[in-house]
Amino acid sequence: MTNRQPLLQVSGLKKYFKIRRSILSKLLARQKDLLVRAVDGVNLAIEEGETLGLVGESGCGKSTLGRSILNIFPPTAGEVSLRGENILKFSKDELLKFRQQAQIIFQNPYSSLNPRKTVRDIMTVPLVQKGIRDPIKREEMIFSLLKKVGLSEYHINNYPHQFSGGQRQRIGVARALAMNPAFIVCDEPVSSLDVSVQAQIINLLEDLQQEFNLTYLFITHDLSVIYYVSTRIAVMYLGKIVEVSPTLEFFDYPLHPYSRALLSAIPIVDKAARRERIILEGSVPSPIYVPSGCPFHPRCPEKIGDICRTNLPELREAETGRLVMCHLYIDQRL
Ligand code: SF4
Repeated sequence: MTNRQPLLQVSGLKKYFKIRRSILSKLLARQKDLLVRAVDGVNLAIEEGETLGLVGESGCGKSTLGRSILNIFPPTAGEVSLRGENILKFSKDELLKFRQQAQIIFQNPYSSLNPRKTVRDIMTVPLVQKGIRDPIKREEMIFSLLKKVGLSEYHINNYPHQFSGGQRQRIGVARALAMNPAFIVCDEPVSSLDVSVQAQIINLLEDLQQEFNLTYLFITHDLSVIYYVSTRIAVMYLGKIVEVSPTLEFFDYPLHPYSRALLSAIPIVDKAARRERIILEGSVPSPIYVPSGCPFHPRCPEKIGDICRTNLPELREAETGRLVMCHLYIDQRL
């Protein structure tokens, strides 16, 4: 991390979903509406040109966080600033302009493209939004974007079903690039692809990052993917960020007990380099009934007594450039 202003700053971001009870159960059983705390007070800063990897188990709130940052899911509370401007206070017009600067690449290349539209139709929408009215110029831009993502101009009249999964994801990348964005949320962009195709898409994203100075929030549950793509890693558990570390330090010695458990589960061929497997008790609690104190305490193999059960630790700097949300580490420093 440097002292300059980050490209994107997220402060106290919350996204709660309400589950409504029926009027009958409210009256007879006095049951209240339930709240799913999908994102629960996230603070993050992403530097220009970096890739921040966001990892965690399924259901921890990663994708909801990505969508809340882009205001696709309007946040319940908090701030999201792009170059110092709080986007949650933007008017409709300002929000449209923001959408040009911040794009998303979706996980599933099969469902993220309209099967009834050709590549030309799909690519035309963002270019029209961007104000490119001249159809000849638009066509040239589509050719150029297709070339950038490794497709050919002959693909322009094809429909999504005529492409492989990897090619469809390339179209998704080209569509995101059409807006000339500064920031892209890559939401599990390679999870549904074969391993060989995953490598091609990751290389493509890295090349485009270099060429256009793009900043990525790269969401995945796969730590071996995150190792190759990220500058820093943020670990999420039950809607909260529990560790933020530079990638190499994170893989060398993770600070948070949950990060240690995640890393211990990666299969490693070299016997000498293998870590002892940490098996966590139980499963991830429901985000409706978040445990008191540290949300990880019911499963934590290193918990240190009542403080973990009753006090919510803050995400604090533990070493230069490394943040951790854990009493254990803070207590060791005292
Ligand atoms: Fe484990 Fe306590 Fe640290 Fe939570 S605060 S991760 S329970 S040691």
